[in-house]
Amino acid sequence: MVVLLLFFSYFVTYKKQTKMRKIEHIGIAVSNLADASLIYEKLFGAPSYKQEEVASEGVKTAFFMNGPNKIELLEATNEESPIAKFIAKKGEGIHHIAFDVDDIVAEIARLKNEGFIVLNEAPKKGADNKLVAFLHPKSTNGVLIELCQEIR
Ligand code: ZN
Repeated sequence: MVVLLLFFSYFVTYKKQTKMRKIEHIGIAVSNLADASLIYEKLFGAPSYKQEEVASEGVKTAFFMNGPNKIELLEATNEESPIAKFIAKKGEGIHHIAFDVDDIVAEIARLKNEGFIVLNEAPKKGADNKLVAFLHPKSTNGVLIELCQEIR
């Protein structure tokens, strides 16, 4: 019985840990997307595989793959864009870390329940065919965390 309970609690814990899966990408705030794309193209030895504007977020993005790792460059398209505000405050640099989740609605509920400040009550459409939601850096040691779920 004890063994069964231990197994069950391990299984429940394990299931919990797998909800937030691998890092999906790292987002980098840049002042000029074209200039930055040339730099990252040189860095990886391969061009951006996708460029996309997300009007609702006020950003233009370019995605790069390097092996299994994905980098998202983000340039603000207006002064109200979170990227414009970030660069004004901190300069260019790492803006967020995105984690792949399989059920973003369940993850938002779980993380709210754990006391994290979730910036989006409901997921919204992000770049690269993803539903996204963000956690306030105040609740994650200064790092903006993005949750993203592939739109199937
Ligand atoms: Zn992102």
